[in-house]
Amino acid sequence: MRIVDIRERSVAISRYADPAIPSGGLTTSMVTIVTDVVREGRPVVGYGFGSIGRFAQGGLIRERFAPRLLAAADGALADAAGTNFDPFRAWSVMMAGEKPGGHGERCVAVGTLDMALWDAAAKIAGLPLHRFSADRLGRGDSVPDRVQVYAGGGYLYPADDLARLAEEMRRLADLGYTRAKIKIGAAGLVQDLRRIETAAAQLAGPGNLAVDAMNVYEGPAALAAAAALAPLGLWWFEDVCDPHDFPTQTAVAAAYPGPIAAGEALFSAAEARLLALHGGLRPDRDILLFDPVHCYGLPGTLRIIEVMTAAGWPRQAFWPHGGHLFTLHVVAALGLGGAEVNPLSFQPFGGFEDGAIVSDGFASLPQRPGIGFEGRAELHRLFRDLA
Ligand code: MG
Repeated sequence: MRIVDIRERSVAISRYADPAIPSGGLTTSMVTIVTDVVREGRPVVGYGFGSIGRFAQGGLIRERFAPRLLAAADGALADAAGTNFDPFRAWSVMMAGEKPGGHGERCVAVGTLDMALWDAAAKIAGLPLHRFSADRLGRGDSVPDRVQVYAGGGYLYPADDLARLAEEMRRLADLGYTRAKIKIGAAGLVQDLRRIETAAAQLAGPGNLAVDAMNVYEGPAALAAAAALAPLGLWWFEDVCDPHDFPTQTAVAAAYPGPIAAGEALFSAAEARLLALHGGLRPDRDILLFDPVHCYGLPGTLRIIEVMTAAGWPRQAFWPHGGHLFTLHVVAALGLGGAEVNPLSFQPFGGFEDGAIVSDGFASLPQRPGIGFEGRAELHRLFRDLA
């Protein structure tokens, strides 16, 4: 049992449903992992992609992590029974020779390949990923039928911002989302308060709206924003300041009574430990955003969950960043609070299967073997083209 081919391609992605709007040159890495296992007359191929909302990791994948998987001896990536790949063994092979610390963005490169490895293994088992991974982790009895979700989006538009934001939120509500998240911090507090009012009007009030400052505020600006937002009763206030600026985050948590969300730009168990010790957050109300693909994939995410739950955080506090099918499976398999979805942004990567129905803010789980990217026609075409 071997991996016979791995391909990576860096592709442009957009924050906006209309990709003609400039989006900062964002890219992501797509990968395909071709195995020597045959199902229905064809080799099983695992599909994965990197962060959506940052940049591709092509160099690290092509020069360091994919060659280690390809060089693994026959059976070295297999489970104990020798009947499937073991993504945990494959993860150790990828990380062989890596030094502690210095996470940089290698964690996203590893997470990208990890996604494709889980896709391949679940396809070989003939199970949807949430079922395969829950069984593998001894959680098979606790997988829910549906998962709480919210729609991410609401980036600042370069023109006609409020009208376009209202239209976007209306589309999300029409798609069945009861909760959504928009961006703040880029256009000044006065405009941000207008954006919040505009978006909340399309939902059932500001308690269903989260705001994401994308780590822009420094000390006094963070406190000023917290003071302005506090009376609104928002669902949560996300990425307040630099992810390592624990003094500012602690000061905001002391002044802001509502939930604060953090962890999207922290990528390792060591960083999670620092957040738990020094981040000033409150396990009884705050939200953890650790993105499985940013965090060395599922093995790295499990270590972070271990660190945070040992520090008194409930699993329900985890609402992973990501916005795609892989995150949905992870949330279901690990019993986490809920999942972000990007039904309009970051296409064709964001969102669930084509035609998937979100009802009252819950999504049902895809049932085809693997992650289910075959159920997204445009994305499946890109993967087939790459493989
Ligand atoms: Mg964020």
